[in-house]
Amino acid sequence: MDDVALQLKALLFPAIADIAVRSVDVDVENVRLDAQCTTAGAACPGCGVCSTRVHSSYLRFLADARSAGRSVVLQLRVRRFRCGNTKCPRRTFVERVSGLTRRHRRHTERLRSILTTVGLALAGRAGGRLAAVLGMSVSRSTMSTAHVRAASTT
Ligand SMILES: [Zn+2]
Repeated sequence: MDDVALQLKALLFPAIADIAVRSVDVDVENVRLDAQCTTAGAACPGCGVCSTRVHSSYLRFLADARSAGRSVVLQLRVRRFRCGNTKCPRRTFVERVSGLTRRHRRHTERLRSILTTVGLALAGRAGGRLAAVLGMSVSRSTMSTAHVRAASTT
């Protein structure tokens, strides 16, 4: 990995291990980050056995916190692995990047944290308005959901 890629990773995802930023595209309104995991394999969530047998890969598009007035989208390539354990009920599984996002989410954990904070402070319509001012367009129900989720975990 070259120095620029290492610096980008350290700048953009300092707390995330095993991820590499492959490219950054910037235009007037948007920043697109292309990234992927750097590990050779992943542990099956069903049995815990590590696999390096890649079945396929696909792109996830995750909204991230804005930067310098631009919206940021993380284009993350994730791999699907074959589980090599014949006793495991899972035949394939998708790698997970701890601290970056969660299953079925469209936001990074960084953006989710910001939305949760806004939701806790304002909730509902007021939270949605503040998020819009900050350039994070989310629905009122998303803001209310973030508020309820955060309140239930504290
Ligand atoms: Zn397994």
